[in-house]
Amino acid sequence: MRYPPYQWTGLLWRANPDPRQGLKGIVMVITAALVGLVVGHLLEVLLDRFYADTPPASPLVRCSACRSPIRPPHLIPLLGYLLYRGRCPDCDQWLPIRVLLLPPASALVFALAALTSDEWAPTILGGLFSTIFLALATTDMERRLIPNRIVYPAILLAMAVSWAWPDRGVGQIFAGGGLAFAIMLIVYIVSLGRFGFGDVKMATLMGFTAGFPVMVVGLFFTAISAGIVAAVLLLTRVMQRGQYIPYGPFIALGAIISLLWGHSIID
Ligand SMILES: [Zn+2]
Repeated sequence: MRYPPYQWTGLLWRANPDPRQGLKGIVMVITAALVGLVVGHLLEVLLDRFYADTPPASPLVRCSACRSPIRPPHLIPLLGYLLYRGRCPDCDQWLPIRVLLLPPASALVFALAALTSDEWAPTILGGLFSTIFLALATTDMERRLIPNRIVYPAILLAMAVSWAWPDRGVGQIFAGGGLAFAIMLIVYIVSLGRFGFGDVKMATLMGFTAGFPVMVVGLFFTAISAGIVAAVLLLTRVMQRGQYIPYGPFIALGAIISLLWGHSIID
């Protein structure tokens, strides 16, 4: 029998009535958040390494403006950013906002994965892939790019660990990946250049992590959120008709919702 630390009661999380199970759950959520903080920080420090114009073996840099080598405080999540008040200590340029946002966001998705699953395997997998989606959303916003150096290894990793999810089978994972690729390929062809092929690959990763039928929930939330934001931007004239919007953040939103809550939504 499973003892979830918190129970989903429709609108609110309610603590498990058994105090010992409740405490165990809280410890797990905090541990998951710390793991997430480190994973998010690692990915963030390495992020510009994943752009195709960076040699894979070059030294770690903190600042893309002066490319000075990383200083020790920057090796600890958030410390370097706070210590130097968000600027590069060498050239005084502002550091990218992802340095501040990605590690806590990753801590949050790991904590939510622990809250929603109460088992370690789906917490680590859900948290890790959610963090990868956050990183892809970041690269799409920074450079309008969904780097192959992240998305291809992530798809291979998702295939390799497809057996490890307790609530979805290998068949569902591969069906989800195949279906997401097929749907997005049609969207890509029909959209005549509004969608990039990077979006197709990123949505395929969603399929290989959420599996079928949960990835349908993810694609649904992607389409709805992108539609709402595009409508608001057009109505407020922030954006002109035909202007490019990065879809990566919306695919990431749909993927994270489907990874963390997909099964509850489908049930
Ligand atoms: Zn600098």
